[in-house]
Amino acid sequence: MELIRIKDIVKTYNTGSLQFAVLNKVSLSIQQGEFIAIMGASGSGKSTLLQILGLLDGFDSGSYLLFGEEIASKTPDQLSDLRASKLGFIFQQFHLLSRTDALFNVSLPSLYSSIEAPEKLAFSLLQKVGLEDRSHHKPNELSGGQQQRVAIARALFNSPGILFADEPTGNLDSKSKIEIMNELKKLHSEGKTIIMVTHEPEMAEFCDRVIHFSDGKIVREEKRSKPKKESFEIHPSPKRRNTSEIIFKSLQTALRTLLANRARSFLSALGILFGVAAVIAVMALGEGAKKSIEDQFSSMGSNLLMVRTGGSRSGGVSMEAGAVARIDLSDVEAIHKKLNGIVNISGTVNGRAQAVYLNRNWNTMIMGVQPGYGVLRNMLPANGRFFTEKENSDRNLVALIGQTVVRELFGDTEPVGKYIKLNRIHFKVIGVLPEKGSGGFRDQDDIVLVPMQTALRRVLNRDSIDGIEMELSESVDRDIFSSDLKSILHQRHNTNETMGNLFQIMSMADIQSAVSETSKTMSSLLIGIAAISLIVGGIGIMNIMLVSVKERTREIGLRKALGARNNDIRIQFLIESVMVSLIGGAVGVFVGVAAIYFLQEFAGWTAIISPFSLGVSLFFSTATGIIFGWWPAELASKLSPITALRYE
Ligand code: ADP
Ligand code: MG
Repeated sequence: MELIRIKDIVKTYNTGSLQFAVLNKVSLSIQQGEFIAIMGASGSGKSTLLQILGLLDGFDSGSYLLFGEEIASKTPDQLSDLRASKLGFIFQQFHLLSRTDALFNVSLPSLYSSIEAPEKLAFSLLQKVGLEDRSHHKPNELSGGQQQRVAIARALFNSPGILFADEPTGNLDSKSKIEIMNELKKLHSEGKTIIMVTHEPEMAEFCDRVIHFSDGKIVREEKRSKPKKESFEIHPSPKRRNTSEIIFKSLQTALRTLLANRARSFLSALGILFGVAAVIAVMALGEGAKKSIEDQFSSMGSNLLMVRTGGSRSGGVSMEAGAVARIDLSDVEAIHKKLNGIVNISGTVNGRAQAVYLNRNWNTMIMGVQPGYGVLRNMLPANGRFFTEKENSDRNLVALIGQTVVRELFGDTEPVGKYIKLNRIHFKVIGVLPEKGSGGFRDQDDIVLVPMQTALRRVLNRDSIDGIEMELSESVDRDIFSSDLKSILHQRHNTNETMGNLFQIMSMADIQSAVSETSKTMSSLLIGIAAISLIVGGIGIMNIMLVSVKERTREIGLRKALGARNNDIRIQFLIESVMVSLIGGAVGVFVGVAAIYFLQEFAGWTAIISPFSLGVSLFFSTATGIIFGWWPAELASKLSPITALRYE
């Protein structure tokens, strides 16, 4: 039976401007069961011919029938499948994977071919070539002859009908040469068709037919013995693995490769790692700040309106012309009287105070307010009571203290009913304010509230106040109310709009929308940072994948010779880059969460980790792996088998 028939095969190489014909109309027919030697001087084109016959290389013109089918009409995938199932290769340089043992090397074709118990088969093939006691040796722990026997066992793995051997003994000492030739002879006697390139006449002695080659042409043929006529049992070729099996195998390979290059993989994942960690931490802190601001708003009520003079805390502001607007309690009274729809109103005044209880000291904010303030700000004490109008007008020395002040001055002691000193004046604690939390700006619980009159006359010694806060009924139109309020103030102080922003009126609704505007800007900024860090991380990965493809070019060539399709190679490299970026992302998530934990625990920051941000981080690290791994994987998959194998 005829296995191979080529007719007028031409192959030329373009080196620079020169066209150089390596094969010049070569025609040849090979029968099943032959053992052929192709001989000729170095550079005569023997290897080129063998590579074309073995489907590792293409040709320019002519016809090639393999098992009766024209090769020119086959797709690259079909050629890969033919290599996987019907052809076996033995190379002068052995082409073993140096990091893995003999057993793994022999079973390498099982990455693409569906074979049951590949290890068992690999071991039996090692037994066949007499290396059963070397199955766990790596190539550098084997002699040249032993390495070539491992390569022969690998070539037999898919029980191919035809074996191609390019100078299989070229790198061996004379004793090993004979061993390898005897091995091939034995395979031939078992029914393999073998086509071997050699330049040594002694090796050609083992063959049935010798084809002499010179300058890209067959010049002479010698028949030594008749080809075996018996028809040998040809094993059914193994089926190709399906894609999900190949993906699973590639995962294993990728994991092994990454573990073999631990430091390098880790370093290339660092960009992604820090990017993701930063994103997680910053997002959580942003969420935390947003949440505590929202909490404060909800504890204040949204129908709150505040008046400040200029924004100065001291109760006045200098204008360009030197004019100063000061408000006092008579303004509060006038507003209350003239405007409808005020549910509660209170002036506010504040300063600093040194608070002392027994031997404990704490510097805090002291705030004078009117009795309506407790309801207005949702600050009615859970423990104790608010002060009354009488206590205010009598300038009584009573105080309500915030949670932070309680903690700093009293610890576990019950504060209500105790006396504290505020700027050396004795005050009776009549209530503890509900917890408000720190809004990222300042601690809202670090405060002491005292009656307005007490604050003005007995602590701060002044007449003017800092602001007015009021709660409006639902039916009030806020814009009309604000402009009425402004005219009353201008009228009372003989000022007008042209003199600058003397009275600032803010509603809680305005502040809320301003804050949500700010947090929107913040989050787009964060998205920008995240994108940049992922791009930088991705470039790191692309870089390392390009190096990896270069380094493993010969391995890629070998895999293709063993039957890997382009897509199998692409999948393998993509999986590797996704694995690097995903591991980077996962460790990044861990680092980010840990950072948040420390910031919360030791710096007292508020943070909220949303599962969403974790999911998004992992999604984007995977995407980065795919996007930045694509080009290197594409380069790897497009390599022609023989260029890759020849790569130095
Ligand atoms: P042999 O195996 O008989 O020594 P080869 O088939 O390897 O010879 O090469 C035949 C000729 O083709 C040599 O002269 C070699 O320099 C040339 N050649 C081989 N590969 C290439 C290539 N990729 N590009 C250009 N020339 C090549
Ligand atoms: Mg050669």
